[in-house]
Amino acid sequence: MTGEATSVTLKQAFSHARDILTANNIEDAYLEGELLLRHTLKISRVQLYLDLDYELSSKQEETFWHLIERRLSGEPTAYITGHRQFYGFDFYVDPSVLIPRPESELLVEKALKLAQNGTMPTIAEVGTGCGAITISLALNLPQTKIYATDISVSALKVALFNCQKHGVANRICLLQGDMLDPLLEPVDLIIANLPYVKESELSPICLANFEPPLALNGGSDGLEKIRQLCRQLNNQLCPDGCLLLEIGQGQRKAITTFLRSLFPSAKIEVTPDLGGIDRVVSLTLPSDTLHQAG
Ligand code: GLN
Repeated sequence: MTGEATSVTLKQAFSHARDILTANNIEDAYLEGELLLRHTLKISRVQLYLDLDYELSSKQEETFWHLIERRLSGEPTAYITGHRQFYGFDFYVDPSVLIPRPESELLVEKALKLAQNGTMPTIAEVGTGCGAITISLALNLPQTKIYATDISVSALKVALFNCQKHGVANRICLLQGDMLDPLLEPVDLIIANLPYVKESELSPICLANFEPPLALNGGSDGLEKIRQLCRQLNNQLCPDGCLLLEIGQGQRKAITTFLRSLFPSAKIEVTPDLGGIDRVVSLTLPSDTLHQAG
């Protein structure tokens, strides 16, 4: 690295940023400070820690504090840097997509467990956003045919960019449209992290996070989109097929009751995330369920 020397070293800037972020109640101040500093200098984690005595140029210092200010005003680090890690992979994100959450990795884990034994040759993800879930699956399931839908054209552009970045654009069929509408054939496994935040709880979240309301707004009780998808399953999920659905805290009973009313003889399970919150509902259709629900 080159630059006009000032008295501020990487170590000092890092430590100062951490203090400011912590004082402003930013969770993970250490990690966020690191990501913003690395983004400023375009360096890897290893380079950062190997070169802590490097002195920032005044331009670099100015850029870094500008990024810290953006973070303090509420902009998520993932949007500032354009990067987010998910399931061990790096994804491009911008404000047209939801920032992938660590708890959604459970959806990927459950899907891989089901699909790795070869009984799920076709998969569809509904509401793919930046494509993190679908691409993580594609990278782990080289034989599987994957569809990914989204109603948002700008989200699909981000998903396409990420498919290309990870070399799976020829294996994932991106489709624009609502829920399962654009699907070309019934599939064996449907995965969805749909919007499930109650509309009344939405505005503080979106304002604070800069995230698209379309990706979070689940209507008056938070479950409108999930119910809409469940009603479409009959035509789009193969016999013996499986649905994996991410849900929010406190939604387990409402969703499992609703699914039970639609599919009386299906197998329904709920798996908690690492924080102990019921997070993934799985529904497995018996072979003859296709014509049961109306
Ligand atoms: N888990 C997200 C949040 O709490 C919501 C994601 C969603 O609606 N699918 O912000």
